[in-house]
Amino acid sequence: MRIYPIADRNLNRLESFTSRYGFVGICSVCGLPSYFGKFRDNHRELGYCILCKASNRKRQLGFVLRKLLNFGDFGKITSDKQILNAEASGGLHHCLKHNVNYVSCEYFGRKYKSGDIVNGILNVDLAHSHFEGNAFDVVMTSDVFEHIPDPYKAFKEIYRILKPGGVHIFTVPFYQTGYFDEKRAEIMDGEVIHHMEPIYHLDPLNPDGILVYNIFSLEMLLKLAQLGFRTTMHKLYDIRYGIFGNNGLVFESKKI
Ligand SMILES: [Zn+2]
Repeated sequence: MRIYPIADRNLNRLESFTSRYGFVGICSVCGLPSYFGKFRDNHRELGYCILCKASNRKRQLGFVLRKLLNFGDFGKITSDKQILNAEASGGLHHCLKHNVNYVSCEYFGRKYKSGDIVNGILNVDLAHSHFEGNAFDVVMTSDVFEHIPDPYKAFKEIYRILKPGGVHIFTVPFYQTGYFDEKRAEIMDGEVIHHMEPIYHLDPLNPDGILVYNIFSLEMLLKLAQLGFRTTMHKLYDIRYGIFGNNGLVFESKKI
């Protein structure tokens, strides 16, 4: 199973060290000094915080969220902002769930409606949500949009549910040197049509993995601008926070 399509550059000496031995730093998710376990051959998805289990990529999301909320490096992120996180498990969720205006959700498939509660978790289809417009200050998605057959419909829906000035913080697989999104699969007449060899990502809700429909590129930034977002692409690398690798990309799209 392929995890991520962008080949890393050769590791620098520090990354070679972290691959074998891990590293210490301040975790941007739990806000504690911590040890980040071995990054092995995948700096994006590994290097788990020994305290909150957040990976390198989740720390990148936490890092950008802290900056957005003007929250410092230490302690659990605390805010009265209306935050929607399209993930109801893992370190980032557990370090945010104490906030009073925090909402978490997952997507359990087409047999459920947005707003249904499934196994105690709110089900939301990001392309057809049940939320009122202008509801959230922040929406967070973590490697979700590559699995949505019509991702720009979901981006448009997120634009609708964000307040003016609200922000969508997200990660997606992204070709840093490409112009057009790579449409690997799509749904036509209810059937999945594969245009390329299928890639499946690990998914805690699905033991068979979850299909990647699109890998994004510059086209995504342009289409987000057409929807009314102004997007900052953060390329993160900061050893103090255990954020390593050459694909530390977090997107911050603001509803204008
Ligand atoms: Zn942590």
